[in-house]
Amino acid sequence: MEVGCLVAPAEDWVARTAGLVRAEGERRHPGVPPTCASGISPSGPVHLGNLRELMVPHLVADEVRRGGAPCRHILSWDDYDRLRRVPAGFPAEFAEHIGRPLSAVPDPCGQHPNWAEHFKDPLRESLARLGVRVTEISQTQMYTSGAYAAQIVTAMRRRADIGAVLARYRTRRDGTAPDGTAPDGTAPDGTAPDGTAPDDDGPQTAVYYPFRPYCAVCGRDDTTVTGFDDETTEISYTCACGARPGPTPIAQVAGKLAWKVDWPMRWAYERVTFEPAGVDHSSPGSSFTVGAELVSEIFGGEMPLHFGYSFVGAPGAAKLSGSAGGAPTPADALEIFEPPLVRWLYARRRPEQAITLAFDAEVGRVYDEWDALGRRVADGKADAAAQAVFARAAGTSDGPLPVTPRPLPFRTLASVADITAGDQVQILRILRDLTAEEPVTSLAEVRPRLDCAQAWVNEYVPPADRTQVRDTPDVETLAALPAAERDAVKLLTEGMAADWSQAGLTTLLYGIPKLQLGLPITTPPTPELKARQRTWFILLYQLLIGKDTGPRLPTLLLALGQDRVRALLSAH
Ligand SMILES: [Zn+2]
Ligand SMILES: [Zn+2]
Repeated sequence: MEVGCLVAPAEDWVARTAGLVRAEGERRHPGVPPTCASGISPSGPVHLGNLRELMVPHLVADEVRRGGAPCRHILSWDDYDRLRRVPAGFPAEFAEHIGRPLSAVPDPCGQHPNWAEHFKDPLRESLARLGVRVTEISQTQMYTSGAYAAQIVTAMRRRADIGAVLARYRTRRDGTAPDGTAPDGTAPDGTAPDGTAPDDDGPQTAVYYPFRPYCAVCGRDDTTVTGFDDETTEISYTCACGARPGPTPIAQVAGKLAWKVDWPMRWAYERVTFEPAGVDHSSPGSSFTVGAELVSEIFGGEMPLHFGYSFVGAPGAAKLSGSAGGAPTPADALEIFEPPLVRWLYARRRPEQAITLAFDAEVGRVYDEWDALGRRVADGKADAAAQAVFARAAGTSDGPLPVTPRPLPFRTLASVADITAGDQVQILRILRDLTAEEPVTSLAEVRPRLDCAQAWVNEYVPPADRTQVRDTPDVETLAALPAAERDAVKLLTEGMAADWSQAGLTTLLYGIPKLQLGLPITTPPTPELKARQRTWFILLYQLLIGKDTGPRLPTLLLALGQDRVRALLSAH
């Protein structure tokens, strides 16, 4: 698949935004590649919902690159934010570190340098698998290295102006911040742009200070600034722990700007051309509207191009093992979806449209749609929009993503994984029978999709819905079968060997009710025939697996093998 060149229609949001980003980047900073920005707080597991924060800028940046121009995509890790609360599933002792920078909190597993790195790692790995190339920026590194020293002094000197802007947007005092964040700073999508409560962003006292120190004694930000000397840049503060350090040059004091000031400061610092945000961020009084004023008025920069993106739902995402504990992560999605499918689920929707990543029985349908799109593109039958979306999903400007060499239908692989309980030898035997015309010779041909199907069966199919083949025949039912049904079973057991293949068994299974009516096996279906077929299939499912439904019957028969089918369908 050629992913390098394509002409996208004008209404295509990726192409349109990429065009704007190139033009705007060139207007603002001629000769400098434009910058698309994402920000993630590694305060806990990074959920699938947060992936849109990365995928939207990625798709745009990659589109610019496909067009032959360089484009920077920065991932700003908000690892200098305070730990706000201990996420569910982590030891309560970590509460001691609430108020400290995420990068100063110990690693919960002992294998990472700190708390923030513990949560960055899995996301990094998922991004690599998804082909999302980013330039990481650690806010801890930026703040502690003094990169923002001049900006911090500017913000402190201009505190009255900043306070006035914030006050103008501070309209509600009902415990909800104007941008819809809850009192603890949690955005409606579960992300916390920083650890500070919304009230930290606004002037509470006669003098407002946009900088919050991390206490030199206890390391927490339970601090109150008591003075700042515009000339010497010395800051004084007190801390809830009792510390009262004397005036200290602010460059020597750990701390960070309040969120609503920090964000526009970074837009200017990084010359961000494009940065989308969750839809809740663009309401009046939000970080975005406040930032729009501060970025030019205080920091001499320009507001990035932006738009709001909608939420991501994940029905059926609770793992049966319960190990994930809560919302799914990108790694959970990549366990059951091949990377191009995950990209496709983001690329095919406009940003304002909600996205659903199903983990339930819909997974099979998503794979079928993706396979159908791939066939249309390969046959040259897809329109330009569909081709563009497919190309963005299948690869990046760096090249195509790995694919499953033989992409057999996901539902077939899931059925086989289910029936065999994962037995590799059996799986290969069945897949060989299923592909009689051009047999699968090794499981490598059907990986990674087979592994996705296996993981899905193990983690998301409830035990009651899995296939349990009977150990012994249902002698009672078999003995009591009416003559017509006994005859149908006999037609199957005596006829199946003649064409023991997916196609042969399909024809025979659907044909038996026809033969019983004296009709040729090629008779087209009628409502009456369909009703008879349904009853007949239920009987077979009952006799083989003790339920009314199950995997497709030809697949089930092939999985069981002729001897076992015969044994389960005879009364003695
Ligand atoms: Zn760790
Ligand atoms: Zn302290």
